[in-house]
Amino acid sequence: MEEIRICPNHGFYRGEKCKCGYRGELILEKEKVEKLGRFISGLLRHFPQKFNLEIDKNGWVSFNALSRIVSKKYRWANKWIIKALIYSDEKKRYELKNDRIRARYGHSIDVELSDLPEAEEKILYYGTGEEEAYRILEIGIKPVNQTFVHLSTTVEKSEEVARLRTDKPIILKVDAERARKDGIRILKANDYIALAKEIPPQYLEKL
Ligand SMILES: [Zn+2]
Repeated sequence: MEEIRICPNHGFYRGEKCKCGYRGELILEKEKVEKLGRFISGLLRHFPQKFNLEIDKNGWVSFNALSRIVSKKYRWANKWIIKALIYSDEKKRYELKNDRIRARYGHSIDVELSDLPEAEEKILYYGTGEEEAYRILEIGIKPVNQTFVHLSTTVEKSEEVARLRTDKPIILKVDAERARKDGIRILKANDYIALAKEIPPQYLEKL
């Protein structure tokens, strides 16, 4: 996790220097970025009910309500700090719109996210370990601890994801175009991640 700073020309960013080379004012130290990120992602993805945070079927919560809960836990975290975290997030984990906020992926609670755009990629990728890959080719990709399966839009990204769990990634190709034609909804979470409830084996092939 990197610190958050602010550049007068480009706004909030992560790390020492902005993309323009300017070393902006420090907004939040690394440790706090990590704590805040973990708590907010937990609230939006895993345990909103634990804090009585009302969440709708598409994963949206009131930004005010979320800020109140967050500032109670971390006195130093006001709305501006929370926005700094969200706007500087390079993985585009969150979406903030009309005073509501949600996570765009990574949920373990039951959400539909049905207002996310459809993914348009013809081919998507899924990286996994060797043993798992053969099982998946038999039974398809099913979510394990998450509500959706997370597919990658590029081979590189799928490999990156798989390397978190295995030294020998196997990449599976998902025929997203055919799956869509057959009525499977595939949603676009960000430039790198697409979501589906499940991908049956007939759309999968080893790369
Ligand atoms: Zn800049």
